[in-house]
Amino acid sequence: MSDLGSLGDVRGKRVLVRSDLNVPLDGTTITDDGRIRASIPTIRELAEAGARVVVTAHLGRPKGAPDPAYSLEPVAARLGELLGQPVAFATDTVGESARQAVAGLADGQVAVLENVRFNEGETSKDDAVRGAFADQLAALADAFVSDGFGVVHRKQASVYDVALRLPSAMGGLVAKEIGVLRRLTVDPARPYVVVLGGSKVSDKLGVIDNLLGKADRLLIGGGMVFTFLAAQGHEVGQSLLEEDQLDTCRSYLQRAADTGVDILLPTDIVVDTAFPSGDREPEPRVVPADAIPADSLGLDIGPESGRAFAAALSDAQTVFWNGPMGVFEVAAFAEGTRAVAEALTTVPGLSVVGGGDSAAAVRKLGFDEAAFGHISTGGGASLEFLEGKELPGIAVLERDA
Ligand code: ADP
Ligand code: MG
Repeated sequence: MSDLGSLGDVRGKRVLVRSDLNVPLDGTTITDDGRIRASIPTIRELAEAGARVVVTAHLGRPKGAPDPAYSLEPVAARLGELLGQPVAFATDTVGESARQAVAGLADGQVAVLENVRFNEGETSKDDAVRGAFADQLAALADAFVSDGFGVVHRKQASVYDVALRLPSAMGGLVAKEIGVLRRLTVDPARPYVVVLGGSKVSDKLGVIDNLLGKADRLLIGGGMVFTFLAAQGHEVGQSLLEEDQLDTCRSYLQRAADTGVDILLPTDIVVDTAFPSGDREPEPRVVPADAIPADSLGLDIGPESGRAFAAALSDAQTVFWNGPMGVFEVAAFAEGTRAVAEALTTVPGLSVVGGGDSAAAVRKLGFDEAAFGHISTGGGASLEFLEGKELPGIAVLERDA
C-alpha cells in the first residue's frame, strides 16, 4: 500500500525514514515495543531493496537539547534485534556522529540517529529555524520516507520540512492508516456507527462535530456521557460534568434530531460513591441513567446499555470507536468497555479503534487485536484527521510537485 515505488530504484541511495519509535521506557528498559515492531516492515522493505536506511525519530519530550534520559540508543538496539541485523547508532542528530554513521553504511544497512528532538529546530514554530535543521537532515540523504503516523499531524522539521527538500514517499504504515481513515470519512459503507467515550467532551468536540454529519448512529459512553445527560435535564450526582459544554451538547442532540442521526445514550449507569483508588474496594451499583444518586458518580455504562450498544453495532458496515465506556483500568468498571469491544469483534463491516487508551483497553481486556479491522497507532493524528483537519505531514507528500 505504500508508495515507496515512486522513489524508483533505491539501491545504493541514502533514504531517510521518519519512524515513530516513541515507546514507553522504564529507565532504559522498553516496556512495550509495539511501535518499533510496527516500524519494521518499511525499514526492512527499503533495506532489502538495497537502500542505505537512515532512521530518524523522537522519544518523549526533551527540551530541544540532548538529555540522556531520552536517548534512542536502547530503541536502536531493540530495532537491531527485531530486524535481525546490526543497526548503527549516531550519538547526535545531524552532527559529526550522524555524518559518520551514514557514510559508513553499505547497501542494505541501517543506522538510527539520536532523538531528533534533541535539536530545537525540530519543533520550532519559526519556519526559518525549522528549515535550517531540515536542511541538515536532508543533507544526510537522497530521499525521504514518512512512516511515523503518530507525528504526521505535526508541522515539524523531520515530518514536514524535510519532505520539501527531498524526493519523498509515504511509508506503508502511514499509507495504511490514511487508507483506513479515508474509509471513515469519504463515502463510508452504511450503517455507519460511531462510538465515543473517554473522559471529556471537550477533548472530542471536533470529532463529534465532523462525524455527526457522516454517521448514522452515534453511541455515547465514558465520562462525556454525563454532560449529555445533564443537557437533557438529568441529575448526574458527582459524575464528571463540564458545565461549559452543556449548550454544545444540547446543540449536538438537536442537530442529530434534525438530520436523522440516532444518538444513543446509556439507560443505566454503574456508579460508586468515590472514584476508584487503591485505598478502598470498589462498591459498584447499577442505577437508571436518569436517577444517579446525588452522592454517587458514574464510572461505567450499565449492562442494559452495553447490550443496547452491542445491538446497535450488530449490523454495522463501518464502525469507528474512540474512548473507553468507563474507567476500564479498574475491573469493576470495565464491563461496558468490554461489551463494546466484544461487539466490534463481530461487526460484519470495517471496525476501527482509535485513541491511545481505547487501544490499551482492547489489549488489557485480553482481546485479540486481529479481531478488529484496524487499531490506529496514532491517537492525536487519527483524531485530527477525523476532525477534518489537514495533516501537514500528509499534505506535504500529496502536494502537486
Ligand atoms: P482515548 O485515549 O482512547 O482517546 P480518552 O483519553 O479520551 O481515550 O479517555 C480515556 C480515559 O477516560 C480513561 O483513563 C478512563 O478511565 C476515562 N473514563 C472513562 N469513563 C469515565 C468516567 N465515567 N469518569 C471518569 N473518567 C472516565
Ligand atoms: Mg487518552
